[in-house]
Amino acid sequence: MTKQTIKIVLNKNKKEKPEAQQLEFGKVFTDHMFISEYTEGIGWFDHQIVPYEPIAFDPAATVFHYGQTVFEGLKAYVDKNGNVRLFRPEENMKRLNLSADRLCMPRFDVETALEALKQLLIIDREWIPSLEGTSLYIRPFMVATEPYLGVAPSKKYKFMIILSPVGSYYKEGIKPIKILVENAYVRAVSGGTGMAKTAGNYASGLRAQEIADQKGYSQVLWLDGIERKYIEEVGSMNVFFKINGEVITPMLNGSILDGITRKSIIELLHHWKIPVIERKISMKEIKDAIYSGELEEAFGTGTAAVISPIGELNWNDEKLSINRGLTGDISKRLYDTLTGIQNGDVADPFGWTMQIDNPVPVQQII
Ligand SMILES: *Cc1c(COP(=O)(O)O)cnc(C)c1O
Repeated sequence: MTKQTIKIVLNKNKKEKPEAQQLEFGKVFTDHMFISEYTEGIGWFDHQIVPYEPIAFDPAATVFHYGQTVFEGLKAYVDKNGNVRLFRPEENMKRLNLSADRLCMPRFDVETALEALKQLLIIDREWIPSLEGTSLYIRPFMVATEPYLGVAPSKKYKFMIILSPVGSYYKEGIKPIKILVENAYVRAVSGGTGMAKTAGNYASGLRAQEIADQKGYSQVLWLDGIERKYIEEVGSMNVFFKINGEVITPMLNGSILDGITRKSIIELLHHWKIPVIERKISMKEIKDAIYSGELEEAFGTGTAAVISPIGELNWNDEKLSINRGLTGDISKRLYDTLTGIQNGDVADPFGWTMQIDNPVPVQQII
């Protein structure tokens, strides 16, 4: 892709910003968004930062009918010195392209995506909340826009980035969640789209999530789609168990999402010389380890909550309590370290954070 400039149209009707204490997840959006177009044979063109507003789609656009769409999720933080920080953003843009490959969608150049994101963050800088635990959630996504009802990869796409200030996930401190182990529905199977962040995976998970909600559980634990024996993920988080001093997480198998938080936690545990292993692990093994007292703690990992300790697993109507329903030591240490690295309070020996302290020159303003 040749280097193209980003055209910028500033919003003249800026919205009022919400109170940092009142922020929830994903309900308010900033004043601007990034948008770029793709046409087969031409590639990506018309990179623009424009006022955030509804956009027009042809009712026959492929995305509405056959679900060709992929997305990402990451966060920007302001550190104590007022610098804007991103956590491993290039990993998100690379993963967006892996998801796009799976859905027969075009790749978007990682450098260009990061440049667009930086410029967008500089323009909407005042929207990044600084209250402890708050952040600016970033949602890059790509959708198929060609008006065509045949089942085939679209010849036209849009790539967009929108921003949403979000509140603290844990308003009263990190707290364990209760999880329902799902036996009837599955999230993904090997050979399917489980490794891609694509809309269909989430639409198909809603039914099980609804049942879990009704029973008083905040997430579902997904088992493998074939034998329904092996652990895959927790809701839209990866999952870890500490058994007998060793931290175990399901190995990537094509149906599990390759989480950036997961990857970072594995690297942190290696750094701390705590044994960590990626392998197949069955629900039966977890239950046995709970019975024998060897299961010390369990937690989910993802960008939204970072670490979610698990206090109870309900499997076949049996309530299995983990670590007496309390947050485990490793969960707490990982949470403090990772959130500290993300918001700049803890040194980052891994080079994971990207600082946006030198505003890139705005290239063309209308
Ligand atoms: C996004 C996501 C995760 C977590 O990935 P992170 O990169 O850590 O945010 C885990 N599982 C699913 C299904 C996801 O969509």
